[in-house]
Amino acid sequence: MKIRGWKDLNEGPVIKNPGNSILYKTGSWRSFKPVFLKENCTDCLLCWLYCPDMSVVVENGQMRGFNYDYCKGCGICANECPGKKRQKAIVMEQEGK
Ligand code: SF4
Ligand code: SF4
Repeated sequence: MKIRGWKDLNEGPVIKNPGNSILYKTGSWRSFKPVFLKENCTDCLLCWLYCPDMSVVVENGQMRGFNYDYCKGCGICANECPGKKRQKAIVMEQEGK
């Protein structure tokens, strides 16, 4: 049996217009949403670092809130947020409340 090389393989999926994920507002899947409590925020930006969807909005080195068009409500930001004096700056709420 002939061993096939990479040139013999079929072409895989090709993304012809890179960056098109911006067109898909994945936040519509969400059942829980993060809510920002600014008074408890120290701008440590751990939420920005951990968010898998780049949905934490940061301006001038400060946490500003969330881009709900793309936030899927996974809750990682709320879980990782150390907050201030043991008070979280991000809490999760059921969507639609
Ligand atoms: S992780 Fe919490 S305290 Fe840190 S920037 Fe985000 S909201 Fe603020
Ligand atoms: S809930 Fe998940 S997707 Fe939404 S901002 Fe937090 S970490 Fe990002």
